[in-house]
Amino acid sequence: MRVNAYAAPAAGRPLAPTTIERRPVGANDVLVEIEFAGICHSDIHTVRGDWGPQPFPVVPGHEIVGVVAEVGADVTQHGVGDRVGVGCMVNSCGQCAHCRNGDEQYCLQGMVPTYAGTARDGSTTQGGYSTHVVVDADYVLRLPGGIDPAAAAPLLCAGITTYSPLRRWGAGPGKKVAVVGLGGLGHLAVKLASAMGAEVTVLSQSLKKQEDGLRLGADSYHATSDPETFTELAGRFDLIVNTVSAAIDVDAYLSLLAVDGALVNVGAPAEPLSLQVMSLIGGRRTYAGSMIGGIAETQEMLDFCAEHGIGAEIEVIAADQVNEAYERVLASDVRYRFVIDATTLR
Ligand code: NAP
Ligand code: ZN
Repeated sequence: MRVNAYAAPAAGRPLAPTTIERRPVGANDVLVEIEFAGICHSDIHTVRGDWGPQPFPVVPGHEIVGVVAEVGADVTQHGVGDRVGVGCMVNSCGQCAHCRNGDEQYCLQGMVPTYAGTARDGSTTQGGYSTHVVVDADYVLRLPGGIDPAAAAPLLCAGITTYSPLRRWGAGPGKKVAVVGLGGLGHLAVKLASAMGAEVTVLSQSLKKQEDGLRLGADSYHATSDPETFTELAGRFDLIVNTVSAAIDVDAYLSLLAVDGALVNVGAPAEPLSLQVMSLIGGRRTYAGSMIGGIAETQEMLDFCAEHGIGAEIEVIAADQVNEAYERVLASDVRYRFVIDATTLR
């Protein structure tokens, strides 16, 4: 099946319209007619070559919402007409300890990313900036009723990437959580941590988005450009989720953790980060990383969002505005996720 898409032809080159081949619907496959695809900063890192060479042309997009158009003979959990989501992962071995434990993203054979990855049949996966996608049914999520499909698209990456560490590190009543960077991931981290009952602080470069941050559920908001922020908040937080797409001063943020606190990096900058081990030793602190979440946990997150009325704050764009949107994301001028209306690709 030949479908319309938007692809980056080479590293650092603007995206342009193209057509790509989607595989025939296999026995355990679902054909999704895409309605919306969010723009994640990871799409930008990938097509700019921040994370090394890629199998160009690359069709990015791993925040996909659409409607099931066809199912294979063995598919029981999804039916034609269902509204579904596809996130960052479209396959994994299913057999290793991590897959069996619901941590498919850490599959020992390597999970198959939604784009710029190698599918089981050896082809290169292509993502959601497209009209249709064929995905193994086990990696397709159910979108709960009552959730706006455009605002739900970013949950498939930004939502689960922040939900998973918030849950793992116990965000909830009595916990002080800071979110660094109020972009796509950050604004959902604020909504989620607040819905979990934690006391939430935003650490942003400036106070420009303070009003938004408080409206999204933060209890306080501080500018990291102000050195006083780091003296005022020293030793305060149980958990800091760093969503920044660039290098940060790790020691400065570790100094904001209480004893036994954890700084969890979900931001994935191209540059290496360094730290003084005394920043950890001095407070039995943890510096950790976290990558998306498993399939069952992603479903749990979608259900949690439906229950708490959580969606992303979005700006819906046509496919031909994608390059402009990338520039605005790079300039931290996104409020708070761009979502491509896939009907503009038809
Ligand atoms: P985004 O919308 O661009 O948000 C990043 C935010 O970081 C910006 O809005 C800005 O917030 C802050 N920031 C940007 N440049 C900065 C700088 N030089 N210094 C300090 N702060 C800066 O990006 P996103 O889509 O949320 O993604 C964020 C990062 O997470 C990316 O690196 C992405 O690849 C990564 N990611 C990781 C996973 C995972 O599984 N771990 C999944 C998805 C994305 P303020 O304006 O508030 O300062
Ligand atoms: Zn992403």
